[in-house]
Amino acid sequence: MPKEKLLGKNPDELKAAALAAGLPAFAGKQLAQWLYVRRVRSFDEMTNISKAGRAKLAELYELGVSAPLGSISSSDGTKKYLFGVCGSSRVESVMIPDGERRTLCVSSQAGCKMGCRFCMTGRQGWHGNLDVAEILNQYISIDESLELTNTVFMGMGEPLDNYDVVMKAIEVLTAPWGFAWSPKRITLSTIGVMPALRRYLDDCRCHLAVSLHNPFPEERVEMMPVQKAFDEKAVVDLIKQYDFTGQRRVSFEYTMFDGWNDDKRHADALIRMLRGLECRVNLIRFHKIPDFPYECSPQGRMEAFRDRLNSNGITCTIRASRGEDILAACGMLAGK
Ligand code: SF4
Repeated sequence: MPKEKLLGKNPDELKAAALAAGLPAFAGKQLAQWLYVRRVRSFDEMTNISKAGRAKLAELYELGVSAPLGSISSSDGTKKYLFGVCGSSRVESVMIPDGERRTLCVSSQAGCKMGCRFCMTGRQGWHGNLDVAEILNQYISIDESLELTNTVFMGMGEPLDNYDVVMKAIEVLTAPWGFAWSPKRITLSTIGVMPALRRYLDDCRCHLAVSLHNPFPEERVEMMPVQKAFDEKAVVDLIKQYDFTGQRRVSFEYTMFDGWNDDKRHADALIRMLRGLECRVNLIRFHKIPDFPYECSPQGRMEAFRDRLNSNGITCTIRASRGEDILAACGMLAGK
């Protein structure tokens, strides 16, 4: 039987774990401090807990912290880590440095059920949901753990398809007893999984990014089977019911495919769809993957698309592509 993991537990749950190990109740707070503030990687490092107490904890629990299986660095400073999860599966996380910022792009599932045709993760199918410890371990176990400033749930998997676990990880990231990050430092990216999206918008103050990629439902469905279950117009209508004029922001991810979604007709339909919503559109360069017919749109067409949106009141930028040489860019994560 695998032992229960401590990583991901809140102070009440840690207190119960401490009591079960014969420690005083206040050891629960000490455990939170060691796990989330000091980010220790072993029980031995918990020096204010008695040796016998540490041994008992280790007998009953595991920390849930495990070193990455490997890492690779890009020429642009981006670093990709590989982790073992869900038994024998693998996921990747990507650390992206940008000036003072260090953003971690984390995975929430091994593989993905959503099957987007342009995505290497989607091609693998789904192999399991990460647990809270497996998500948080991606923050704890990388070399840059204490330097991280931001995070995006944009790695492998659809985070809203593992909702409760992702919300628990976000609780640890934002709680004063946890990482104590502001929700402003966290963005969850989804293709629009409806029932969970409403819960996220109701329950969470973190930012939202939605992968749209095409404003015409009959075209979007060609690449994104999710469109059959959750229509993008319904997704945008739902989002329009919430306020994004304050701290929480919404952005739309739009990967540019040459000849599929990049002409004036698409730009105009996107403008109509997003009108009235305080939002931003990020244009993403498509990174060629094997056995897929499309290429990235030419630079000139991407700029024309961006300019058309901007001149119609929708803030639009072309996102810089990072880590392409180590297969760490959007849509390229395969857990290899
Ligand atoms: Fe899943 Fe996201 Fe890839 Fe679609 S793009 S298959 S939702 S990981």
